[in-house]
Amino acid sequence: MDISKEEFRKLGYQLIDQIAEFNADIQNYPVTTGESSVELIKVIGQESLPENGVPLDGLISKTMELLTQHSLFNGHPKFMGFITSSPAPIGILADMVAATINPNVSAHILSPIATEIEKQTIHWLSEFIGLPKPYSGLLVSGGNMANFTAFLAARTAKGSPDLKSEGLSNSGSSMISYCSVTTHTWIEKASSLFGHGTKSIRWIPTDDSNQMDLKCLEETIQADLRAGNQPFFVVGTAGDVSTGVIDNLHGLATLCKKHDIWFHVDGAYGAPAAVLPELKEVFYGLNEADSIALDPHKWLYIPLEAGCILVKDANHLTATFSSHPEYYNFGENQEGLAQNYYEYGLQNSRGFRALKVWMALQQVGKIGYQKLISRDIELSRLLFQLSTAHEELEAMTQNLSICTFRYIPVHFAGKANDYERYLNTLNRLLLDSLQLGGDVFLSNAIVNQKYCLRACIVNFRTSENDIHEILEIILRTH
Ligand SMILES: *Cc1c(COP(=O)(O)O)cnc(C)c1O
Repeated sequence: MDISKEEFRKLGYQLIDQIAEFNADIQNYPVTTGESSVELIKVIGQESLPENGVPLDGLISKTMELLTQHSLFNGHPKFMGFITSSPAPIGILADMVAATINPNVSAHILSPIATEIEKQTIHWLSEFIGLPKPYSGLLVSGGNMANFTAFLAARTAKGSPDLKSEGLSNSGSSMISYCSVTTHTWIEKASSLFGHGTKSIRWIPTDDSNQMDLKCLEETIQADLRAGNQPFFVVGTAGDVSTGVIDNLHGLATLCKKHDIWFHVDGAYGAPAAVLPELKEVFYGLNEADSIALDPHKWLYIPLEAGCILVKDANHLTATFSSHPEYYNFGENQEGLAQNYYEYGLQNSRGFRALKVWMALQQVGKIGYQKLISRDIELSRLLFQLSTAHEELEAMTQNLSICTFRYIPVHFAGKANDYERYLNTLNRLLLDSLQLGGDVFLSNAIVNQKYCLRACIVNFRTSENDIHEILEIILRTH
């Protein structure tokens, strides 16, 4: 199992050479090969579990070749699907360091410096998004886990005091959450997994600007109060997954204070944009949130996985997640500072996700990130302008770094009332062929019942030239 120093050095250098070549050449690969599962099974073969080991050098170089020949590359400058960023190269190196030291960031005693680095990362992320005082929190696998962590902390904070021992039977079944119809599916997973049921979600419609309708929210809360239910959790979205809209956070915070409801902001995608002074207004109210979800593996360009949950008052985390079995002699907090991360979230053994975030924040600094994030926004505006100007494209929405638009042919011979259905089908088929084609990767959004192409740019490799080329690709693919 161990590898001698000489061999490790030789194989490691070879691998680093291959990675460096790949990163420098990534724009010349197809974004994806579009191969089917059947084709890929043939590529890796169906041999059974190896009985005996194989030489290392072949193993490493073959694996690298396999992955570079048959992957989808979200690091490609023309990858703009869903919300997955290009991986920052510093993150590749940071993960190697993290695996070398292999701290188990569950308890301070097992991960002394790693725990302090995670704490500092949480402070820095709070500062990054402009919170006047650092929140507490921890790194998790992604947005879903970050939001789940907040959901659970909120229900401990707002639920009956014996909820931990009695479960939901006392009052939990009537604890109601509120979110706009644009909210990501995690809220359904949370409500069903944690025993509230999906019927406990109130999906509030959006207004003309695609923000949660505050008047409707207030009315719905009032109706629940009259019915004897307990409103406990409101989700504001800071950058919705389809079109990037940010809810009226201050308005939501005010309503939550009035009714003693936990105010959670899902900023998995958009929250890092709060680092831009010009977006201060748009994020107004963010610092009133009880909790904020933010994914460093989205707009901070950290390699998967890195999600983060920030919570205003750490006591709500420990009240929810802490337990003290006799086999943990982790002791009391020294000077009230030592922190055992297993008491903050769902995981017990935990990897050192914070390191890659901590190192990337140092590599480019706040100003470097401001430049990168505003450039992504500018590129998405450029895409919007170009599709507005083109006679065969219709620009639909542009918020943060997401642009939605669709293809409209100049000539349509059918009946006028079939036109929208025709356009929806046409754009769906267009997206399918673009996604398999390998020249560009977009995803879709439904805007006002219209099927649109959607580009979300969280990509430090994308250039203006790529935006022009993407439109050419779309127009020749249709
Ligand atoms: C991406 C995203 C999620 C889910 O995050 P994962 O990291 O994929 O689990 C949740 N909410 C919003 C707003 C997102 O953008």
